[in-house]
Amino acid sequence: MNRLDRLRGTGPGKRHNARTVAALTGNPGCSRRAVLDAAGVDKVRLAEHIGFPGSFGQSRFALARGNAFEAMLKADDCALLRSTLGAYVGGYEDLGADEDGTLSARHARTRALLLDASEGLVDHPLLTLEVAGQTVFLEPDLIAYQTGAQLQVVEIKSFAIIDGQADGTAVSAAAVQAAVYVLALRQLLGDDRVSHEVVLVCPENFSLQPVAVVLDVRKQLSTLRRQLSRLASVSALVESLPEALSFDLAQPPAAVVAALSAVDARYAPECLSSCELSVYCRHEAAGSTSALGRPVRDALGGVATIDEALALASGAASPTPDQAEAAALLRAAQRLRDEAVAVAPRPRGEAL
Ligand code: SF4
Repeated sequence: MNRLDRLRGTGPGKRHNARTVAALTGNPGCSRRAVLDAAGVDKVRLAEHIGFPGSFGQSRFALARGNAFEAMLKADDCALLRSTLGAYVGGYEDLGADEDGTLSARHARTRALLLDASEGLVDHPLLTLEVAGQTVFLEPDLIAYQTGAQLQVVEIKSFAIIDGQADGTAVSAAAVQAAVYVLALRQLLGDDRVSHEVVLVCPENFSLQPVAVVLDVRKQLSTLRRQLSRLASVSALVESLPEALSFDLAQPPAAVVAALSAVDARYAPECLSSCELSVYCRHEAAGSTSALGRPVRDALGGVATIDEALALASGAASPTPDQAEAAALLRAAQRLRDEAVAVAPRPRGEAL
């Protein structure tokens, strides 16, 4: 049993998918997440075991809406999708039709088909990506292989684009997920065969009428590459952990919590939408300046807790040399606040 298996303990290793690979970019500086993911720990079960379950993932309503939208686009050999994509129309191959095929067989057929690409759409393709020494199978919504020399990923999402605008968080999550597929395709076929532009297909306005927009995912690709290489090199971090450390869920919850606290976390509010352990980590970080978000943590380097920040701002505490810059900022902010309070209009009868 290797060190990562021992860290995970008796439970089966959790496999990644495109959503979990995409989530790796959410908090690249967190050692706790890097170790848990590299060891394949099931973070949903771990969070439940220690009493901090999260409501992670899509709601049932969102899942049903997404499935209905995708089924509508793909009906009749993707007739509606092809008319939406316009310039990307062509032939259609459904690799999911052969249900007897193993994952490896479907991946081999995907590879053969894409190497021989001409115009058209490939449905239910199967790609692979190496994540922390583990081969992950990925199933993109579709790959358009099309005019010109490059392949293009098509990502179907059920959030609406209203008057040309969509929820920024949802779009950036879709862009990262599509970037995972682009990376897997590039590893399979070479960088110059796969476009860094992906096509996002969403419902338009308040109907289910689809609309296609193009996203450039170069930034997401470089972040993903960096994060995946960090995961691959997580072995040094793992070696530095105590030999007996284990996240085995057969242990009592208190022992698992003690194991978690042996690995540094870097909680930020963004964790709530990207990591299954966020409810626990938020609880653990309560009262710390980092719980207020990365901009606050970066501005208040050296000031670990909110109580300390308030004491420095009011002058009740003297800063250490490495807190001097943050303390000056805090005192200036306190002065501005005091001035604003002094000139603010007050309800009649209220004393200053
Ligand atoms: S929720 Fe916790 S483990 Fe997950 S990324 Fe945030 S700090 Fe790290």
